[in-house]
Amino acid sequence: MKRAVVCGAGGFIGGHLVKRLKREGFWVRGVDIKTHEFCKSFADEFLLLDLRIPGNCVSALDLGQEQPDEVYQLAADMGGMGFIHSAECEIMHNNVLINIHMTDAAARGGVPRYFYSSSVCIYRDMKFGEPEMVEEQAYPAMPDNEYGWEKLYSERVAYAFARKYGMKVRIARFQNCYGPEGTWTGGREKAPAAICRKVAEAQDGGTIDVWGDGTAVRSYIYVDDLVDGIYRLMHSDLESPANIGLPQYVSVTDLVNTVADVAGKRIGIRYVDGPVGVQSRNFSNEKIYSTGWEPKFMLKDGISRTYPWIEKQVQKSREQSAE
Ligand code: NAD
Repeated sequence: MKRAVVCGAGGFIGGHLVKRLKREGFWVRGVDIKTHEFCKSFADEFLLLDLRIPGNCVSALDLGQEQPDEVYQLAADMGGMGFIHSAECEIMHNNVLINIHMTDAAARGGVPRYFYSSSVCIYRDMKFGEPEMVEEQAYPAMPDNEYGWEKLYSERVAYAFARKYGMKVRIARFQNCYGPEGTWTGGREKAPAAICRKVAEAQDGGTIDVWGDGTAVRSYIYVDDLVDGIYRLMHSDLESPANIGLPQYVSVTDLVNTVADVAGKRIGIRYVDGPVGVQSRNFSNEKIYSTGWEPKFMLKDGISRTYPWIEKQVQKSREQSAE
């Protein structure tokens, strides 16, 4: 039985990845600084460790006589645009420590295969209608925010250690991911979850506040599709970073309208000042397609599976505050 360690298993994508690896027949150790907020972990073993500390990274990978066959590094101090803009120092400090120590522990410990979760935030801003960017166009680098710079640096760390120690590294640059069991409130939630929450809280015919003017273009990927991409990339021969995203680009206003449609509510939008991030996105997915991957969930399919879960969380929290 193959053994995998998933760092960040108490989080959104890591939690879903553990389920997938269990379905694929792996023995899985989950590692995180906290347990999962929304569900029990499906990992065979779960260690609570702060991965900013070098010795904890070594412990996370210590399986006694044998090495883990695969390590998936998804642990990060992260959140949506609100968090990215208000917590630059925490993001750069905490994530660089997690990544430098975890990559070092894995490479020196002889881990054969290491996955690192990067982001399309490593790319520069784009103009509306610009042709697709391929992975190599990350350079010359000009990420829009410090979260992106840290991701780019940590990609380079992983490749440097791979060269020195012969570890196989696979890196995915994720588009904005959403789905059930992800952060939906509290300031770290990303746009799809925040909009699902606002629509769930609004009355039919009500109005919600949306940051910016609604024209920013994004692609949102449903978590099952993303996890499938991670799994295929890890088991592929692709040595350089690969984008994983849905080739469906929508404006923030389109996103609100899709959520309102799924909720069956008429929703007005009040555009307010707030951190929006880049103007536009348009990335090639050709590399990840070469692994046989293809997305199964268009935006409306994914929102149809996500909105009911967030609506239930909103109801539960209303009931709790009424008690
Ligand atoms: P998440 O916040 O739900 O999960 C990250 C997990 O890392 C959390 O459970 C957190 O507790 C854990 N963590 C933070 N600091 C830690 C520490 N010091 N020690 C151990 N664990 C620690 O985020 P997610 O959406 O599941 O993202 C997973 C990865 O994917 C992250 O690296 C993120 O940057 C990357 N990513 C996510 C998206 C997205 O849209 N969700 C997009 C691009 C990249």
